[in-house]
This record gives sequence, C-alpha cells and structure tokens, in this order.
Amino acid sequence: MYQNKLMRPYILAETNWEALKDTKFDLAVLPWGATEAHNYHLPYATDNIQADHLVAESARITWQKGGKIIVLPTIPFGVNTGQSDIYLDINLNPSTQLAMLSDIIEVLNRQGVFKLLIFNGHGGNDFKPIIRELGLKFPKMFISLSFFPQMFDKSLYFEEKGDHADEMETSLMLYLKPELVLPKEKWGDGNDKKYKIKAFTEGWVWAERKWSQISEDTGVGNPHKATKEKGARFFKDVTEKMSSLFYDLCIADVDDLYEQ
Ligand SMILES: [Zn+2]
Repeated sequence: MYQNKLMRPYILAETNWEALKDTKFDLAVLPWGATEAHNYHLPYATDNIQADHLVAESARITWQKGGKIIVLPTIPFGVNTGQSDIYLDINLNPSTQLAMLSDIIEVLNRQGVFKLLIFNGHGGNDFKPIIRELGLKFPKMFISLSFFPQMFDKSLYFEEKGDHADEMETSLMLYLKPELVLPKEKWGDGNDKKYKIKAFTEGWVWAERKWSQISEDTGVGNPHKATKEKGARFFKDVTEKMSSLFYDLCIADVDDLYEQ
C-alpha cells in the first residue's frame, strides 16, 4: 500500500484507489455539520471544522489500535429551518438529508460496509427519525449516531452554559483554528430569550425557535470565558472517548449486540 506521510489512510478524501482496491473497512463515519452564523466572531464553518478535527483525531487513534475505519467527507450543510432570515445560513431540509443518507447508505450496503456512524456536529440536525426509516430499508446496516456536545458534563470543562457559539465552541475554535476567530472585543454576549410560556423551558414541550428573535448576535451562550487551553482539554477527552466508541464499533458483531 503506497502512502506518503501526509496521506491519512483512514480519511477517504485523502486516500486512493491503489490503497482501497484491496482494503476492507468495518466502519464508515460520516461527519455532518452546518454552514451558519456563529455569534459575530466564529466562522460559518465552525460545526464542520470541529467535526473534521474531532473525527480525524478519533479515527487516527482507532486506526493505530487496528480498527478498520474510514471517514467519509464532512457534509457541510445542515438543517437551518429556524434561521431562514439569517444571511447565508444554508438550509438543508430533513427530507433532503433523508435522500442523501439513503444514497450514501445504499453504497455502503451494496459494498459490504455494514456499520455506519453519523457524527453529528450541529444541533439542528435530527437524524433519529431518518435512521429509523433507513434501518427498515437497509436491514443489514447498523446505523448509529453520536452528538459530542452531550458526551460529557460540559460544566466540568466550561463555566458558562450555552449551545451555540458558546464558551465550548469558542474554546474549541481557539484551539483548532485561532486564525478564524475574531478578536475578543468583537465577541457578542450570546444572550438568548426564553419562551414566555413556562412549559417550554421545562424541556417537555418543544417548538422551533425563531433564531433571529431569540438572539441578537446569533450566539446562544456567553463565550467570554473561552480559552484555547479549555478547548485543548475538551478536544483531548472527546477524541479519546470517541475513539473507543469507533474501535468498539469496528470490532462489534452486529448479530450479537446485546447483553445476555
Ligand atoms: Zn456550532
């Protein structure tokens, strides 16, 4: 197998037919992000950049342990139905995601890569109903889904709560791509408005928020205590834990998934 040092054999976009014609993978990972405003200071590709780096590093560790993993290219657009009036937030409807995933899974299924993990990097993407439907259509496939912001108790890493362009995302971006983060004086406060109807804040009733009405700067969560060091620590813990999941999935027998 020919590779130079810069080619990562577990990243499909970088490897080649020479390497792949005799290789069999056990697990495909599909990172899925979004292209959307992230407060004033983070790039539109924040979710994609985070997903790219988190998945690549996790896959590197998995590959080193011997896991047969292949990372598919990150899908750069996500569901942004609630941000229709935010300039150049590029919305992909859930029905489009279903069509795309169906085509991708058809390839994997036909070619015998029966395990797929969707690495979701954007809160607006909701793959569960899609996975249920495609699981029925492709019964040989084992399709799973991860959402890394829920992996750990974020308060062990970050002081301020948030879920969009918050202290966590700003810290990660300061660690991964500081050149794309605006200087601190440009950071908005990420204040968001809650529903007046109390039940919505209790978490058992849901409606999509009209983003431009709940946040002035498009952020949800105060980023001001973000640091590169916090980002580095979170990145390391996420990728270590994620790589164990990747490895477990690589070696899992899909006909024997449940405890006795
Ligand atoms: Zn984000």
